[in-house]
Amino acid sequence: MTSTARLTALALAAALFALTGAAWAQAGENGAPVLVLNPYADVDWETFEHHKAALHTHTLQSDGHHPLQEVVQAYHDAGFTILAITDHDTHEPNVHVRGGSVREEEATPYPDPEPDDYPANTTWPWPDFGAPAPAEWGMVGIEGNELSDRHHMNSLYNDYGVLSRDKDEDEQLHEVRDRGGLAFLDHPGIDADWWTRQPVEWYVERFETHGPEYLVGIEVTNCSVETEKYDEGLWDQLLARFMPERPIWGFGTDDMHQLSSVRESHSVFVVDELNDASVRAAMEDGQFYFRKSSRRNDFRERAPAEELFPLIHAIDVDEDAGVITVDASNYDVIQWITAPESLEPVADYETSNEPWPLGQVVHEGATLNYQEMPELDRYVRIELHREDGEDIYRTFTNPFGFAPAE
Ligand SMILES: [Zn+2]
Ligand SMILES: [Zn+2]
Repeated sequence: MTSTARLTALALAAALFALTGAAWAQAGENGAPVLVLNPYADVDWETFEHHKAALHTHTLQSDGHHPLQEVVQAYHDAGFTILAITDHDTHEPNVHVRGGSVREEEATPYPDPEPDDYPANTTWPWPDFGAPAPAEWGMVGIEGNELSDRHHMNSLYNDYGVLSRDKDEDEQLHEVRDRGGLAFLDHPGIDADWWTRQPVEWYVERFETHGPEYLVGIEVTNCSVETEKYDEGLWDQLLARFMPERPIWGFGTDDMHQLSSVRESHSVFVVDELNDASVRAAMEDGQFYFRKSSRRNDFRERAPAEELFPLIHAIDVDEDAGVITVDASNYDVIQWITAPESLEPVADYETSNEPWPLGQVVHEGATLNYQEMPELDRYVRIELHREDGEDIYRTFTNPFGFAPAE
């Protein structure tokens, strides 16, 4: 199915739900959940390819520590085939040269001449900033910016950068939409003196105001370990409110500023073949999963942890039998997670790193017989864990949607 057809099907399902929600929920016998959204429905797991994506990275064009060429080279050598450079639209280049932590001779001279929207310009196209074009690397490159004046947001597939200081997030997201772009919200719980956390209601408003055709999701794993329960809990809290009508895809990114200390948090796109259109369609449809390691790694010195992560080979859905089966390797446990027990906060979101109840683990094992699980509430997502000494390697799927019970 084409992306458009899938979106149409999704919109149709939402419309049908609005009209006949009660009847639809009753379609399952004895309150059995009815699967209405499978982000991997179009994947042929035998033939599709898995492509690692770094969607949130910085270079010397803002406050990153490396020139573009070095960043692309490192991700290319680490096996990444999809790369978005998302420099802060609020920063001039060479922040760390001026700060003294990057040597003067490494300063990036670009752009010359300055683009009209400097310094809010995107680091794109790559040859203007000293690196060969994505095709030369066998990669898909995505134009983007980290919109950084308010809540940080990854803006992709367009050239927007916020020049004026009076545009709120809604105006920024509408601009991304009008330029044909996609966006997701960055590192909600990051613990930094320059960051103001928002209550869950703020996120609810954004996802009510902006449709899934351009606001596709939220960062769930990133470079922080201390605040990861915050971000995961927020995702579950939002999924519990919005699934299955309005999916919110989860993204893993590393917010890379320094290649010497990444967490290997990234997303993996499952596509029939690697090209610009297939990657964008997969981003819109949630046809990807994401992973995170707790260890710090230096991409330039140590091989990435591919063989240490739980590996997903297939996710098969048998709708007649009401069964989802994960074919995976390299894991200790497979958890199936549904909505949190409560939507009430349990602590102060500004100071606690776990202010909301996380989703409930309702099952462990490779197979979920969902028709026999009336406790499934609106969605189920899958986490695969593998421990290795002190470190934990996790793989997360996007959510499957169920018609809500009566
Ligand atoms: Zn940020
Ligand atoms: Zn960032």
